[in-house]
Amino acid sequence: MSGGLSDADKRRTGLVYHPDFLKHDTGAHHPERAARLIAIIEKLESSGVLERLIKISPEPASLEQVEYVHERSYIESVRNVCERGGGMLDPDTPVSAASYEVALLAAGGVLKAVDEVFNGNLESVFAAVRPPGHHAERNKGMGFCLFNNVALAAEHLKRRGLKRILIVDWDVHHGNGTQSAFYDDASVLYFSTHQYPYYPGTGWFDETGSGDGRGFTVNVPLPAGCGDAEYVYVFQEVLKPIAVEFRPEFVLISAGFDPHETDPLAGMRVSSETFGVLTEIIKEIASGSGMVLALEGGYSLSGLTESVWCVLASLLGDFECDCGISKMEAKAAVKNRVAEIKRIQGEYWGL
Ligand SMILES: [Zn+2]
Repeated sequence: MSGGLSDADKRRTGLVYHPDFLKHDTGAHHPERAARLIAIIEKLESSGVLERLIKISPEPASLEQVEYVHERSYIESVRNVCERGGGMLDPDTPVSAASYEVALLAAGGVLKAVDEVFNGNLESVFAAVRPPGHHAERNKGMGFCLFNNVALAAEHLKRRGLKRILIVDWDVHHGNGTQSAFYDDASVLYFSTHQYPYYPGTGWFDETGSGDGRGFTVNVPLPAGCGDAEYVYVFQEVLKPIAVEFRPEFVLISAGFDPHETDPLAGMRVSSETFGVLTEIIKEIASGSGMVLALEGGYSLSGLTESVWCVLASLLGDFECDCGISKMEAKAAVKNRVAEIKRIQGEYWGL
């Protein structure tokens, strides 16, 4: 279909990374630590994947760009805490002297990823950034998050004229900050799977948007213990039909790997391979429109690195899974939950 292009040219995949991301110092015992990114890069290097990725060097987001989503007073308060040498934004969210600059670099990295794909230079990008973003609210940092990288990217795409942006948030926690940024906005469809009840407490399935945004928030709260069959079932039964009807011009993924079976914080049982399967499903939905994934959570180093490797295998076009996930049967409780969500979302979508 693309004439003489080689497979490599057809599947140009980028990676955002910068060693300064390691300078956001959360202390010796915090799960969201620099070792996460070191482990990811080591795995990509040792497996030969790193050399196949187009490296994107991030630049810091401007204050004006961070203000797409956040209040100036909040941005300045983060800067002030860091200038004083660090402190706590909330009981879970330590910042160090460098954290403000690092958070700008993380946000700017996701914005640059979006530009590279929007301009047609790359088909997809994985942004290995920290600190993560999806809990960050307009005027509040929380849950390890300072600035909402993915929400800023969606606002950036709106300013480039896009009218239909899909955000898929598969982190095990609900992305309260992203949901609230677009709750009344029909141009950004926010879809989230998350453990419920669990931190931060939002994301029940009756939260479907407000005003013009009614039906453009799709929450799939799941009980602890869900694994491969349940996640694939939800993506096929809920995300796929809604996304196909929405026809996204761009897909952003809040890629948290804390639903992994080895994650020390959460209670899900998702295997590394399933993150590749979910990426395959999203690639099908995106069908040629751009895809950018931004790292959120994921606190088991082995689970994180293997899962990211599977995602990149999918983006590079050589993911193979003979694990039989698609033939597995989802638990009845999850099928019932999905039926309830289809009933509620059926008011807005042809489910
Ligand atoms: Zn998380």
